[in-house]
Amino acid sequence: MPASLKPGVVWGDSYKTLVKACKEGQYALPAVNVVGTSSINAVMEAAAKNKADVIIQLSNGGAEFYAGKGCPDSFQAKVLGAVSAARHVHLLAGYYGVAVVLHTDHANKKLIPWVEALLDHGEKFYKECGKPLFTSHMLDLSEDDIDFNLSESARILKRAAKIGMSIEIELGVTGGEEDGVGSDDVDNAKLYTQPEDCLKAWNALSPIGHFSLAASFGNVHGVYKPGNVKLRPEILKSAQDLVQKTHGTGKNPLDLVFHGGSGSEKDKIAASLTYGVFKMNIDTDTQFAFAEGVGKFVSANEKAFKYQIDPDDGAPYKKLYDPRKWLRQGEEFLIKRLDEAFADLRSAGRSLCAGGKPEKKVA
Ligand SMILES: [Zn+2]
Repeated sequence: MPASLKPGVVWGDSYKTLVKACKEGQYALPAVNVVGTSSINAVMEAAAKNKADVIIQLSNGGAEFYAGKGCPDSFQAKVLGAVSAARHVHLLAGYYGVAVVLHTDHANKKLIPWVEALLDHGEKFYKECGKPLFTSHMLDLSEDDIDFNLSESARILKRAAKIGMSIEIELGVTGGEEDGVGSDDVDNAKLYTQPEDCLKAWNALSPIGHFSLAASFGNVHGVYKPGNVKLRPEILKSAQDLVQKTHGTGKNPLDLVFHGGSGSEKDKIAASLTYGVFKMNIDTDTQFAFAEGVGKFVSANEKAFKYQIDPDDGAPYKKLYDPRKWLRQGEEFLIKRLDEAFADLRSAGRSLCAGGKPEKKVA
């Protein structure tokens, strides 16, 4: 029988329990990029509807948007937006009755100060509440050489582990671009992570604390024409086998992350689940779903977006231009896309909180 967890944000041991259950059960959780309360609530609603646990994450740009594009200090907006979003999730996740992993997305060398500022807030929150603000931060130094990547990751992990946090690192390069991080002109060999590099990461980081690894197996951010991307999930298996053989661990010792999940072939997603992938990032497809919902609503009710009152028959349109109407349709389309993601990743119906009841009392 799988372990059971209390609904709410997981961290430390509860996070490790969740990752272990995913890998043993060969399913993964969608990690959905959010930009505001509307997308965050839709993700939690979709998880509750699918009786699945879920990962909510913010890119630096998403965090900045959460704080407000007009916020006078862009760096502070990236920090405070992420803090604000995390506090929103901490307050509500328990009521949705599922386990939520709180994550930040790609942070390259220039964004290390962003991660460090979030750790400042995380430490403060830990002192106040006895838990960290985020479950895990991602540090993506894959554009730098591997020694720098691993020594910086080790430095950050040392600090994060003290407050029960994990980090995600990246080896090799995910093609395409995500929120200004990444590039289109990478050398093809770098699109496939070397198993030896994964072993190096294991050696450097596993003695310090928990980490997950975004390994590249031909994955690309964004959605491209079919045939443009050659996914080779067997690369993940080679990395797992090398660590297992070298250290005599159990099967699939690495906790792997699949970036660029949008638009990927379903059979390649299924294969990656057998090789220790527990997290699949999805952004492009959920962005489109939200936009499609809003777009359909606007096209179906065009006049309500031009006139407050119908110029011909004087009918009031307030009930249609009310943002709760069209934002809700965006949320509903996002939820529908996540129904598909939970099914593809085999996580529907497998929430570790299924035995528990949602929080009833005010904390
Ligand atoms: Zn990514």
